[in-house]
Amino acid sequence: MFDVESIRARFPALGRELYGRPMVYFDNVATSQTPRCVVDAITAGYFGAKANVHRGVHTLSQEATALQEHARERVRQWINAESVSEIIFTRGTTEAINLVASSFCAGLSAGDEIILTVMEHHANIVPWQLQAKRLGLVIKVAGINADGSLNLDEFRSLFSPRTRLAAFCHVSNVLGTVNPVADMIAEAHSHGVPALVDGAQAVAHLRPDVRALNADFYAFSLHKMYGPSGIGVLYGRRSLLEAMPPYQGGGEMIAHVSFDGTTYAELPYKFEAGTPDFVGIGALPSALDFMEETGVEAMAAHEHYLLDYCTRRMAEVPGVTIYGTAPGKSPVISFNLAGAHHYDVGMLLDKQGVEVRTGHHCAQPLMHALGIEGTVRLGFAAYNTIDEVDRFIAALQRTASML
Ligand code: PLP
Repeated sequence: MFDVESIRARFPALGRELYGRPMVYFDNVATSQTPRCVVDAITAGYFGAKANVHRGVHTLSQEATALQEHARERVRQWINAESVSEIIFTRGTTEAINLVASSFCAGLSAGDEIILTVMEHHANIVPWQLQAKRLGLVIKVAGINADGSLNLDEFRSLFSPRTRLAAFCHVSNVLGTVNPVADMIAEAHSHGVPALVDGAQAVAHLRPDVRALNADFYAFSLHKMYGPSGIGVLYGRRSLLEAMPPYQGGGEMIAHVSFDGTTYAELPYKFEAGTPDFVGIGALPSALDFMEETGVEAMAAHEHYLLDYCTRRMAEVPGVTIYGTAPGKSPVISFNLAGAHHYDVGMLLDKQGVEVRTGHHCAQPLMHALGIEGTVRLGFAAYNTIDEVDRFIAALQRTASML
């Protein structure tokens, strides 16, 4: 039995009321709520071991460093990376992808090609466009099928002798489509091309195994998986990271600095300039503990139960169109109500205590491909309930009758 009530009890924010009603939080695709254990770990970091990492001989600094390096080892285990040298802490998925785009592309030249898909978040489009503009690279884009699954034939057809990297999401933040990333990586490798996976939307629902996937780069954010905000992870294959130049310069990423020439630190520090959010990093193992104790597969099964139930019940509401119906999709529902603007739907749902996201979801090329400006989007987390889905459906029915 999945004990959702005891899970909810671990999330103080879920006790909020909005407009006199218990809050229904369905904006989990953007960010999840945080369990008390993570906030307690952050508090312990600030009150117990607040000293800058890696720079001190004193006890507090060594404790803070130990917490950060324990977190790195915990992440290594979580995603089954071979070495902690391959785990780079960043501010989030966005910074992780920018790091690869800036650093990996430094070795490319005009006419080299990068493959993306049309369902990418802007975080996996714009960093490549910046480099394309700077270096004269060519970006090629694979499209989708009617159900929101990737057009794999088109993806395969885009590889050429000039392809240098393929970058794609594990899970779409709009359609919920779960891409066959292991096959896509294998396809890239068959052309001698490395692959980057944007795992931002996967990590709340599954435990990626970077070695089983054979991924070259895998990026994700902790705030979407019950962890602290402002922290991300870039996994990178050691041989690739070693060949890449630093992304930012400053403290921690150096071996020796002089005006005659500077040398850089070993991995992973070569890519970690400046003081990181070491308190948040030190607290992230608590988020992984929460997911491990709850059971990632049990959480995913519960979320899919909610997805199926909610999808069925939404069919009762006149004028609903759902975007993304690929088999095995992630627990994300993007939809529009006929004749209503998504902002109006979102605002009226909010006034009834239901928190959903509206807009283009940082996926404007996908919106363009779908022929729409935006959608209303909800996503389920382990703490959501059938009762909340029922309250959402009642609020949606009321919204539909008002618009
Ligand atoms: N990629 C995908 C698929 C996302 O859904 C998001 C955020 O919604 C991002 C990247 C960017 O994540 P962050 O803002 O945490 O860097």
